[in-house]
Amino acid sequence: MTPQRQSIFRVLHGSTVHPTAEAVYHSVRAEMPSISLRTVYQTLNDLAAMGEIQAIDLGTGSIRFDPHTGPHHHLVCDECGRVQDVEAEFPGVTVPDADASGFEVRSTEIIFRGRCHACAEPDGGAHTQDPASTTTTEDPPSQEAIRA
Ligand SMILES: [Zn+2]
Ligand SMILES: [Zn+2]
Repeated sequence: MTPQRQSIFRVLHGSTVHPTAEAVYHSVRAEMPSISLRTVYQTLNDLAAMGEIQAIDLGTGSIRFDPHTGPHHHLVCDECGRVQDVEAEFPGVTVPDADASGFEVRSTEIIFRGRCHACAEPDGGAHTQDPASTTTTEDPPSQEAIRA
C-alpha cells in the first residue's frame, strides 16, 4: 500500500461523517501537503473498486465515502448533509409480490431523511455546513463512561 493510500484509508477510518472526496483531501493534506486532489480521487476510486470502502450517493450533491462496507442504513440531514450509520435491521421492509415481478432482491439500503440534532437546535449552535467538521457536534463519549 502506498503512503498516500495508507493516509487516505486512515482518514476514512477515523471519520464517522462519510466525507466527500474534497473533505478527505483537506484532512490528508494536513499530514501530506504535497498530495493532489486528483490523487485523492483516484485513490478513493481504487479503494472502492477493491471493495475496501464504499462510494455512496446519498443525494447530498457529492459522492460520499464510507469505510463501513457491510450492509447498513443511513440517516441523512436535509439541511447540512450530515450522514450517520444505522446498524439496525428492518426485516419488515419487503417488496410486495405485485410489484416485484420476479425481481430478486439482493440487498436493501434505507435512507432516512430529516433534520439532525444540530440543525434542530433553535439557534443553530456552532454548526457549520462542512461535513468534515460535524464530529464536534456529537455527544462526547466520556458521558457513557461516567454513567457506566
Ligand atoms: Zn444537520
Ligand atoms: Zn455508512
